[in-house]
Amino acid sequence: MKTNFQAIVVGAGPAGASAALIMARAGLDVALVERGTFPGEKNMFGGVLHRIPALEEVFPDFWERAPLERHIIKKGVTFVTEGSSFSTVIEAGSFDRPPFNGYTIFRPRFDAWLAGEAVKAGATLIARSTVDDVVTRNGGVVGVSVLDRGVLNAPVVIAADGVLSFTAMKAGLRRQTFDPAQMAVGVKALLDLPKGVIDERFGLVRNQGFANEFVGCTSGVRGGAFLYTNYDSLSVGLVFHLASLRTSSKTPYDLLNAFLEQPQVAKMVRGGRLQEYSAHLIPEGGYDMIPELVGSGILVAGDAAALCNATGVHLEGINLAVRSGVLAGQAVIAAHQSGDFSRQGLATYRRLMEESHVLKDLRKCRLAPHMLHNDRIYNDYPELVCGLMEDIYRIDGGPKETLTQLFLKRARKKIGVKNLVADAFSAWRAL
Ligand SMILES: Cc1cc2nc3c(=O)[nH]c(=O)nc-3n(C[C@H](O)[C@H](O)[C@H](O)COP(=O)(O)OP(=O)(O)OC[C@H]3O[C@@H](n4cnc5c(N)ncnc54)[C@H](O)[C@@H]3O)c2cc1C
Repeated sequence: MKTNFQAIVVGAGPAGASAALIMARAGLDVALVERGTFPGEKNMFGGVLHRIPALEEVFPDFWERAPLERHIIKKGVTFVTEGSSFSTVIEAGSFDRPPFNGYTIFRPRFDAWLAGEAVKAGATLIARSTVDDVVTRNGGVVGVSVLDRGVLNAPVVIAADGVLSFTAMKAGLRRQTFDPAQMAVGVKALLDLPKGVIDERFGLVRNQGFANEFVGCTSGVRGGAFLYTNYDSLSVGLVFHLASLRTSSKTPYDLLNAFLEQPQVAKMVRGGRLQEYSAHLIPEGGYDMIPELVGSGILVAGDAAALCNATGVHLEGINLAVRSGVLAGQAVIAAHQSGDFSRQGLATYRRLMEESHVLKDLRKCRLAPHMLHNDRIYNDYPELVCGLMEDIYRIDGGPKETLTQLFLKRARKKIGVKNLVADAFSAWRAL
């Protein structure tokens, strides 16, 4: 097996495959090391692939080439209580034409396709290979050690091995332990359902898709739920704050089953045949969780660098992973031109990241993860919203009250004016 390369990428997820693709296209000899038997084999997400201009720059006809399920034209939020639900839905014509705003995808297909494009560009994919350490010389990373295979050498390594990134940890760029308050866990059920049933049930035609998020359905655990339409299946799942889940006595699967049985949700998934369950961690600590992005001979991209923007309104990970992978690749190309792989030589990556939407967005939403550690969001506000809507539409023969009167009556009882003001201020600062 060939052991010397100009760059090594650890992990063939969206971040790693993008980095390898950019570098291979520039003519670098790149190894893309992946522990799965093929890229994407065990990767999962919700998930909606949000629009990625970084991929459109590489593939101008991205939506025709990539293995996509449906493009999202309808986006909804549903507040759920035990007895009722209230939904808002935006259906936008502009989301129904290229460049589409987002797509549902299956990771095994999408990741394998993206890594395949890197291979077509000249990268060497080394699958079934788990990196278990970095190799250092004079304090700088000069390769990786691969379990049962030996050492691969390169003057620079990109750690794109996901949320638990042992590569970044072994290189001393991130801490050895995680703060459960900065982590979430997602569980998902994939339910087969014929395309025609999905189209009719959710009001879709052709490859149009629907993405819906739910608040108030996690039995007191901080978190939310999602339902996304694939071509002929539904992805349905929950995301929980790890610290909150840990202190509850509940298991994710029990909570998922309870969610699927909620009357409002049961109607949406009726007839769906369970295809698989899966679970994965999400780095949700935002800007304050980002480790050192650059070391001597090493860069960190994607979830490995905690580049996930979970604000309660958005959950963006793959678009940030791809952009960071592309920028890491560009920084390595520049380092090859200058011949400088030191921390200073690779600092271009930090600069490019600062200029990109990735760090700008995460910095702007820096307070969002803190705001989301508020139990009222998951219990009291869904009850307030659903209760208020019931009050507005209930006809009981009594004199009508104004919307302000109805709102204040409910809000005083459920939340309290002081909390309401504090929560509004916190949301305004975070979002
Ligand atoms: C339930 C859930 C829902 C989500 N929903 C969304 C969503 O709707 N939209 C969105 O944009 N994002 C979403 N995300 C986040 C998104 O999945 C991640 O941000 C994204 O996958 C990060 O890509 P990555 O390439 O950095 O890491 P990963 O996708 O985790 O890829 C890492 C790769 O490295 C490999 N690897 C790991 N360790 C090693 C090793 N030691 N040696 C070799 N290879 C290794 C893995 O096998 C994997 O292929 C969701 C995540 C979850 C869990």
